[in-house]
Amino acid sequence: MQIFFHEEQLRHRPQSYYSRGKMRQPQEKPERMLELLKILQSLQLPVQTAKDFGTRPLLEVHTPGYIEFLKTAYTQWQQLPEDWGEEVLSNIFIRENNREIGILAKAAKYLADGSAPIGKDTWTSVYWSAQTALSCADVILKQQDDLVIGLTRPAGHHARKDGAGGFCYINNAAVIAAYLRQKYSRIAIIDTDMHHGQGIQEIFYDRKDVLYTSIHGDPTNFYPVVSGFADEYGCGEGYGYNRNFPMPHGSSEQQFFGYVDQAVEFVKLYQPDVVIHVMGFDVYVDDPQAKCAVSTAGFEKVSEKIRNLNIPTISLIEGGYCVEKLAENMHSFLKGFKIA
Ligand SMILES: [Zn+2]
Repeated sequence: MQIFFHEEQLRHRPQSYYSRGKMRQPQEKPERMLELLKILQSLQLPVQTAKDFGTRPLLEVHTPGYIEFLKTAYTQWQQLPEDWGEEVLSNIFIRENNREIGILAKAAKYLADGSAPIGKDTWTSVYWSAQTALSCADVILKQQDDLVIGLTRPAGHHARKDGAGGFCYINNAAVIAAYLRQKYSRIAIIDTDMHHGQGIQEIFYDRKDVLYTSIHGDPTNFYPVVSGFADEYGCGEGYGYNRNFPMPHGSSEQQFFGYVDQAVEFVKLYQPDVVIHVMGFDVYVDDPQAKCAVSTAGFEKVSEKIRNLNIPTISLIEGGYCVEKLAENMHSFLKGFKIA
């Protein structure tokens, strides 16, 4: 087992975000990572520094215009003649706009919602989060290990081909799924975060070489609201390779695992070469984002089920906003992998 992270991922510090009708205090804070690092250190599990694979692998799933925007938006925003605030945060959303004349038009196009502000250090952290995921993929490609964990902050599963949203900028799971295709022909992504990873679904919706399955809160009146429903099976060649398990809000831990078991069976049927697990601690009963009630002990069961697939696995740690319980929940999660 190996674990990857890069210190530069701590630099992104959002000031505010717009969600559910008002400006809110950020939940996606660097302190989250410090909690995870703290428990890894106390368990004497070494964390390796991510290597640099450059931007090329990112361009396999994101458009060049979008990557350029993420890199340069903050500087351009600061040069606006009027005060538009400290962070790039749009109040105009025109995703189909192809007239990327000024930075405001670019923000209107490349920000998919109000919950992915871009500050001074956002690109640096986002870049290294992707490199952390790629470092995990590299271990699997070189067959050096069959279990790798990436502390991927900022998270990625909501990031679209050309749009940031839901605290996500680069779609780490999608980037490494595409990267692993240089050697492997069948990649399965299983997403147990509280939210549906609509970015991953969108990117691979018409492909059968990357399967996506997700257990998440019913998107009716819950982020990402327009996708994640049970009748989204994929399209074209990809039909049948996408499977969503929306949970009714207020689901118990038992109900959650009922869906997890179905998703695991779906992955098994596919017989993938590699499994990418998008892990979210936001299904935890006291998490501010939770619409179900997974206990600390439940996280051990999550990793046990993934481990029992007996397929080389990369687990990317994404959501989880109950900061004071993150260390404990991570500890439980590691136990299921038999490494703590
Ligand atoms: Zn989430």
